[in-house]
Amino acid sequence: MSDVATLLERNQKIAESFTDGGLTGRPRLSTIVITCVDARVDPVHIFGLEPGDAVVIRTAGGWITRGALHDLAILGVLAANAPGPSPMRPELVVVHHTQCGMGQLANPGIQQQVAERLGLSVEEVAKMVITDPTMTVRSDIDRLRRTPAMPDGLVVSGLVYDVAAGTIDEIVAPAPLRPDHA
Ligand SMILES: [Zn+2]
Repeated sequence: MSDVATLLERNQKIAESFTDGGLTGRPRLSTIVITCVDARVDPVHIFGLEPGDAVVIRTAGGWITRGALHDLAILGVLAANAPGPSPMRPELVVVHHTQCGMGQLANPGIQQQVAERLGLSVEEVAKMVITDPTMTVRSDIDRLRRTPAMPDGLVVSGLVYDVAAGTIDEIVAPAPLRPDHA
């Protein structure tokens, strides 16, 4: 019926040997990872992240959605005001992946249903299709460059995770969002 009992049971085992109570909310790596909600694409596993390592935002496809922009704006303010020896300048790592479920949005029937559910046009939904993650991770970052609310100096990179091989390709090397203003 529900998997919550399983989750609670797993947590209980983990809590027995829990030693991370001293961590603060300031991540060890100045990194915000944004990636897909796909169960195979958890940054904890694909990057070997430990508790306290990095901030993770997950959206359908890893697209930098309006909701993700909202979260990035809040994180930007919190980072600028974070206590510590120096202000945090988090960098953003965008990860798209192979075999993404967002490929199904190319199907006209699915496209129509998503459009109705979100109150969007089918054209807008078509822009969310991910069949070529190498192309979409680039277009996602290009769109971010055109988003005025994002700071010029924000360092952004784009990666593609291959779910069959477990490997990652760097598609967009880390660089300030608008290099002229870095
Ligand atoms: Zn996906």
